[in-house]
Amino acid sequence: MKSCFENYLGSGIMPELKAFVGQKIQPNLREWEEKAEIPESTWEEMHRLGLWSLAVPKELGGEGAPTVYLAEIMKELAYGSSALATAFTASIMSGLCIFFAGETPLRENYANRILEHGDVSAFAMTEKEGGSDLSNIQTTAKVVPGGYLLNGEKCFVTNANIAKHFVILARLEHERRTSRGLTMFYVPAGTAGLEVNAAYKKFGQNAVRTCPISLKEVFVPDNHRLGEPGSARDLSYRILQRSRCFLAAGAIGLCSRADDLAREYLSKRVILRRSLLSQPVIRHLFTQLNTEKEAAWQLILSAAKDWDDNALSLHRVNMAKLFAAQVANRFVSGMMELYGGWSYTDTYEIEQLLRDVKFYEAVEGPAFVQQILITRGLFPSKVQ
Ligand SMILES: Cc1cc2nc3c(=O)[nH]c(=O)nc-3n(C[C@H](O)[C@H](O)[C@H](O)COP(=O)(O)OP(=O)(O)OC[C@H]3O[C@@H](n4cnc5c(N)ncnc54)[C@H](O)[C@@H]3O)c2cc1C
Repeated sequence: MKSCFENYLGSGIMPELKAFVGQKIQPNLREWEEKAEIPESTWEEMHRLGLWSLAVPKELGGEGAPTVYLAEIMKELAYGSSALATAFTASIMSGLCIFFAGETPLRENYANRILEHGDVSAFAMTEKEGGSDLSNIQTTAKVVPGGYLLNGEKCFVTNANIAKHFVILARLEHERRTSRGLTMFYVPAGTAGLEVNAAYKKFGQNAVRTCPISLKEVFVPDNHRLGEPGSARDLSYRILQRSRCFLAAGAIGLCSRADDLAREYLSKRVILRRSLLSQPVIRHLFTQLNTEKEAAWQLILSAAKDWDDNALSLHRVNMAKLFAAQVANRFVSGMMELYGGWSYTDTYEIEQLLRDVKFYEAVEGPAFVQQILITRGLFPSKVQ
């Protein structure tokens, strides 16, 4: 396996990643979406390229790559397939919980699995009763000799069908119903009582499966608890500060794809003896949307740098996630309009992008939730 980060510092990884995206991802996008799966060979290739080691800390043998760099990687991956970037983000996010809060033997074993095999992981926080409201989590963790028994149902678990490792949020049975009563647990796939149910049929990004899971008397040993009892809320906020940079970067990568596709289409679309791309009004649209896209990207980089500088700035990353999702939706919808009647068919890839881009406004804090969090950051005191 290559040292991807070393390559980056030299010149290597980006050209290799771009080639991988152009040759191995884009030509297969439609087939993946129809079959609702990313082939195993793609994951293997990502491992071979060295992508998996990027998010493994240096002291555990990985590259410990900075967030700004990982955001670049996510942008590039999403240029090929936003579904793949989402799957990779979910996996990295789960790993981060283990690296942050797991006991040393667990962290070491997990790091070895990632470095040697490129295992995929899943993060199970959301429940049907309301994803944005952590205080409503109903999955319970009962204290038993040597560990805990988990019981409950989780929904929307990205990668659940292929994950080898799960990070799961549950409420200790004696805890009150507040978000401060939550604890995080590591559960390997195949543990008795952990069942992955049929994937949802989604509006877009079907290549990556999102499934409900059931937990029936799932035993978790004490040493697989992540962090102190009751620490899951703060831990999740910390992890989300990083993963929201990656999701936002994915939204921008998807915009770049829409930009290239529309340019190519419009340069060949001749109306009144001129290509549509040469029409001033159309160029102005590109100018406006690309200006917004660049602004969103700069905001993401600044939020990513906050993480790398160890600055807790939740409201800034929420600004980046909110703005990137809004810009990406405006961007793709604007580009799609330029396809005229064809935009209303599935003839061109742009139609897929419009379905995929909705994802960014719906997940990991939908728009209103981001706005609430930003407002809290701007007005930290309760005094009016
Ligand atoms: C494709 C996909 C993949 C996902 N992957 C994962 C995953 O891997 N792991 C995981 O744990 N979860 C995952 N999720 C869940 C996702 O993060 C949640 O769907 C999201 O957090 C919103 O929760 P909800 O759907 O219950 O919406 P709700 O919380 O019910 O929100 C519904 C609407 O109400 C608004 N709202 C919420 N609270 C307030 C408020 N206080 N004031 C005003 N408006 C409010 C929201 O902005 C939204 O518009 C995924 C979801 C999808 C669709």
